[in-house]
Amino acid sequence: MLETRESLANTPKKPSMTPKAMIHQRYGNKACYKVEEVHDAAQNECPGLAISQKGPCLYQCTLNLPDISVVSGTFRRKKDAEQSAANMAVEKLGLTQKEYNPTVEEAWVDLADRIGFLFSNEFLSSLHPLSGHFRAVLRRERLMNGCVPAVVFGAYDAKIANICKYIINETEVNSQVMIPLILRAATKVTDLELIPDEQLSLKRRIPYPSEILLEAIHESGLQESIPIEVIYIPASFSNAVVPLTLNIAATDYYLDVIAHELDLNEASDLLISRTIGKSSSEMRMYSPAPKKQFLDTFSKWKVEQTIHFEGPSNVRASYIVGQEVYGDVILASVGYTWRSSELWHEAVSLRSYYRMLINMIPSGIYKISREALLTAKLPSSFTTKGNWRGSLPKDILCAFCRLHHLSEPVFSTQSKLLVSSLDIPGSCKKLKVTQLSKEEEQESGLSTAQGNTEESVEVFNCEVKLHSKKQELILQCSPHDLHRRQTDAMNSTSLKVLSWLTIVFEEPDKSMDKLTTMAETFEICFLHQFFFNTLCSSIRNVWGVRSKACSVNSEGDEVFLIDLGGKNTGGTPSNGSLACITYTVSLFREDACVKESLESCEEFEFELGNEGVLPHLESAVAQMAVGQSSYFRVDLPPDDFILAAAGDTAATLSLLSTRRCKLEYCVTLLRVTEPLEERMEQALFSPPLSKQRVEFAVKQIKESSALSLVDFGCGSGSLLDSLLSYPTSLEKVVGVDISQKSLARAAKSLHSKLNKLLDSKDPSNKIKYAVLYDGSITKFDSRLRGYDIATCLEVIEHMEEKDACIFGDVALSLFCPKILIVSTPNYEYNVILQRSSTCHGQEDGDTQEAAQAACKFRNHDHKFEWNRAEFNQWASELAARHNYGVEFSGVGGAGDVEPGFASQIAIFRRMHEEDIPSNIESVAEATNESSSPFSTIWEWNREDQECNEKHQ
Ligand code: SAH
Ligand code: MG
Repeated sequence: MLETRESLANTPKKPSMTPKAMIHQRYGNKACYKVEEVHDAAQNECPGLAISQKGPCLYQCTLNLPDISVVSGTFRRKKDAEQSAANMAVEKLGLTQKEYNPTVEEAWVDLADRIGFLFSNEFLSSLHPLSGHFRAVLRRERLMNGCVPAVVFGAYDAKIANICKYIINETEVNSQVMIPLILRAATKVTDLELIPDEQLSLKRRIPYPSEILLEAIHESGLQESIPIEVIYIPASFSNAVVPLTLNIAATDYYLDVIAHELDLNEASDLLISRTIGKSSSEMRMYSPAPKKQFLDTFSKWKVEQTIHFEGPSNVRASYIVGQEVYGDVILASVGYTWRSSELWHEAVSLRSYYRMLINMIPSGIYKISREALLTAKLPSSFTTKGNWRGSLPKDILCAFCRLHHLSEPVFSTQSKLLVSSLDIPGSCKKLKVTQLSKEEEQESGLSTAQGNTEESVEVFNCEVKLHSKKQELILQCSPHDLHRRQTDAMNSTSLKVLSWLTIVFEEPDKSMDKLTTMAETFEICFLHQFFFNTLCSSIRNVWGVRSKACSVNSEGDEVFLIDLGGKNTGGTPSNGSLACITYTVSLFREDACVKESLESCEEFEFELGNEGVLPHLESAVAQMAVGQSSYFRVDLPPDDFILAAAGDTAATLSLLSTRRCKLEYCVTLLRVTEPLEERMEQALFSPPLSKQRVEFAVKQIKESSALSLVDFGCGSGSLLDSLLSYPTSLEKVVGVDISQKSLARAAKSLHSKLNKLLDSKDPSNKIKYAVLYDGSITKFDSRLRGYDIATCLEVIEHMEEKDACIFGDVALSLFCPKILIVSTPNYEYNVILQRSSTCHGQEDGDTQEAAQAACKFRNHDHKFEWNRAEFNQWASELAARHNYGVEFSGVGGAGDVEPGFASQIAIFRRMHEEDIPSNIESVAEATNESSSPFSTIWEWNREDQECNEKHQ
């Protein structure tokens, strides 16, 4: 627990301004950046290469400013090109980043100067979010000097807001606190006079010259009034939030229209909040100004005095904007901008209001990023970036901090070097990047399996700190788990923080003890008064009891799948795989047979077993096969969720008001992506395990000078394809598999590869013949007898154990290759794969168990995975039965370090080179089967191809 600021005080340094920020400060939206893609010419100059090689994409940026324009050099990243252009402009214009740090007296002078400038002739016709207000009041009053409400100065001029900070000593000031300051400073501007007390407005004593005035306020184009959709948020909880339409005529000052809607006289009776949401947003809250207090403060003139409001606090509005708002409120997205002198606006619907509310919760940010409010949940763990769908945890955390007016999160990652994967974390050795050895590898064309014994892995650990805007440390999460990638570590830590925050938000009534216990589980310590007093009380007020049901509250209930229809086209999903579904969610009223669609998605993908969707949906999908559809019904979640998900609120509202509805989910499982094993292999080994297996096979082929090879269970032909990239003695290659889909893919890639090799006339390519057979490797086909080398990589575990044994016997007694290489996962290594790819290291028993279960085998299609002893026994006994010798090896990890290789390999060698048993025919006859049960799927013949070539 953080009790004092000092205990963990390590406030981040305020970063110095970037060139872009300096340009922005000076030119605002008049700075125009244009980024173009350019191709690096050097990359294309490759003589003799027919296909133009597209180099990495590079960017160049042109920056146009009112005075100059500059063109940057080329960069890999767009933002670097922009910064470079901005930097060139900064240098050219001689801008210096001057530290603005005035004394209070200086700030007062600056404030008066700035106000004076805003009332200048020059400013009236400029493009500035504030100048539109000046023109509008002049138009309204048809006078040569209009009354500009004091509130707009702080709200729409960043400079004024900045200067005010130095007078009232607040990091982020409310526009209301600035009003008395502005009125006061204005008394020091000689050209201005203050308009009678009640108004809280400023106007020029000397009118604008008429020609300037006429030019500035000439009315443009059509005079029709514009309807603006806004939201009315009553202060009282018992009154509903409702949508309204404001009609703003061309001659109206829009703030007057808003004021009237709140039963106020005119614009200067309003308070205007800071903007809500994105930095470019114009969404603000408009509420009644406490005029009397302002005037009191102003006349007594005590700056530090806080302003007390008479009216009731508007809890809903305050929660969204993150500052205190009083009275009834209008939420609108309207105003003048840097871009045009016309009034800009955007509709704010009831739906966007509810979305904003939901967006304040970490899990809500996630749901909205996935456009799946009624379906998605914040997943319980970060496995890999490849498996994650929707905004990444790190981005969600940044968004959360922005929405809650906290400073950007500060991440610190640490890298460690683990020499073996079982090394105990803690030692902080420097990573030695062995550039040289990498080159050597390439020269020899392969790296030996033994080379991996010294495999050292760089791993990362990440800590994150959250600070308030006042740089007070409010939360720190320092997990111990290690990750192969820096970004995975950052995301995993971010997710821990988000998971804890989700609990804070979704159960606002929890006790201090529970908050603390949960925090410990997530390796978090936090400043308790911030979360417990400040944040929780406002959440409790806004969400009340309803928030309990934030994550569609249906856990515990059983799911009854109604109607399992559709064709089963194979493949049921398992934990860790990615399921892709089509779904619709509707409000359903059984008695009236009414159905109102709320949310739907054509293709929605999520990781199974990770709680990334609501439990009912996950359990439904886990029971389905690809191609099948089902539907189920659950009780209603809070209205807020439904309204934020529904496009058509009127129909939804009327159905909702009956409260006799259920939510109906219709789901079709489109496909399942199962490369968990592959993903882990890619992420955790370099080169990837599959490449290491190929290199292992190539080494054996070279050593044995094999002419013929058969790959049992060749799948999509990855081994055959890769083999062809190495110079070997092979003349004949064959692949066998039972999956037609995989074979078709293999045929396609082999065909193009072989023809390309032929075209290249590479003398090291000796391949004369290639063929792919469809058939089960538990059967014998006499055409494949007596090959020089046979491979069976990562196949046996896809068969039942007894079939794996049959294959072994058939292979060594009938196929009789001189060498047979069999690889299969080492079950004992899984613990390392799982530890590295998930972040369960330090979590509670439940989750850890779940992780174990999720990754029991590396791939859902595995029927078994053997440990080293089991594999050794199978291989030794098999070899002994058939007069073969056997040695053991492997790839990934090291053989002599626990828990052995990631993939274990057995190399069988026929003892008597020339002595192939001759009982084949009798075996075929005895089993009463054809001697060639495999069917040819694809065949390639060098002579045919060369013949074709000649004829063409
Ligand atoms: N050897 C390949 C593919 C491994 S995946 C590689 O290393 O990339 C396992 C493959 O075994 C799948 O393509 C599957 O179709 C195949 N397989 C499973 N049982 C088989 C059987 N009885 N006969 C032939 N192939 C089989
Ligand atoms: Mg496998």
